[in-house]
Amino acid sequence: MAVDFLKDSNGLITCVIEFKFVEMGKLHPLIAITEKKIMHQMNFNDFATFARPSQLERKIDKRSDADFLEKAVLGKDSRLLLFWKGMPMVDNQSNPVFLLAEKELIKTLGTMVYLGSCDGTDYFAGDITRENTPLTVNVVENRLFDPSQYQHPNFPEYYFKGLRMLLPYLQESLLAELLAIGKALLGWHYTHRYCSFCGHPSDIKNGGWSRICPACKSEHFPRCDPVVIMLILRQNKALFGRSYHWPQGMHSLLAGFMEPGESIESAVVREVYEETEILVENVSYLSSQPWPFPTSLMIGCRGEASNDTINPQKNEIENAIWLEREEVMDIYDGSRTDISLPRKGSIAEFLIRKWLEGIII
Ligand SMILES: [Zn+2]
Repeated sequence: MAVDFLKDSNGLITCVIEFKFVEMGKLHPLIAITEKKIMHQMNFNDFATFARPSQLERKIDKRSDADFLEKAVLGKDSRLLLFWKGMPMVDNQSNPVFLLAEKELIKTLGTMVYLGSCDGTDYFAGDITRENTPLTVNVVENRLFDPSQYQHPNFPEYYFKGLRMLLPYLQESLLAELLAIGKALLGWHYTHRYCSFCGHPSDIKNGGWSRICPACKSEHFPRCDPVVIMLILRQNKALFGRSYHWPQGMHSLLAGFMEPGESIESAVVREVYEETEILVENVSYLSSQPWPFPTSLMIGCRGEASNDTINPQKNEIENAIWLEREEVMDIYDGSRTDISLPRKGSIAEFLIRKWLEGIII
């Protein structure tokens, strides 16, 4: 987009905005540049997990090239990430494992998708989920923060572990992006096996980036669900909420799904009022985070509260509180233990930390 100002003979100034459409395959560098500019303005020098731009080339033009995909997946430099029920395969140090995609292994996969390429390596993700596979499964009391490691009989030396548990350790941008795409895309295929127009089973297409219905020929694309998450400030304090199903004491920033026909700013104002009856003004965008649980995009915002009294709406949240900056610092350094905050790697933790550092004011 280019912006210019023209002055006519009467002194009238006109603002001219020129939009340039960009080929889909060339969009990624522009996004990366935009991201860097935003980060520079905000003086952010680190990122929430999955949000740091990586060197992955998504190679959109190769997704429909069956010959390329067939050869690439069996190439000696290609690598395959396996998922079982949305959990990536890891070694005994919780490092994600990349395998060679051998023919016998590919035959066992329910779904395989092309993630992209980096430094001559083509990356794929495969789903080995089978409902009747016997697994070593521990008792799980809280799926949201499931610390279990599962073992699959075909891969006895490895484990499958929830991606949420790996968040604090996924600082390397390429690895994080590969895991985010793999989890989100394979999850989408698992829950979208039928045509939403006519109900016929649909087929995978474009290296996993769409599905086609053989009956009515309609094509379906993976969705991304926008969620607003907001740091709401009033003087020296920020607004924190608590959901019913969270671990005891945990509080985080308020968040909610955007609705059709709604702007980001309106969604922030609506969600905060619905949950707490706090009125919000001066909403601004801060940063975003792909959140593949299952296919969300977290849109981090800042807003200013114009009233003090919180009235937590119990049909929405268990509780909401104001916490002053010093109180949050006490929680961070461990001197206050009745409240816990979101784990490192989430955009909630990122925004809270940037507020404590004085970067978000
Ligand atoms: Zn159909």
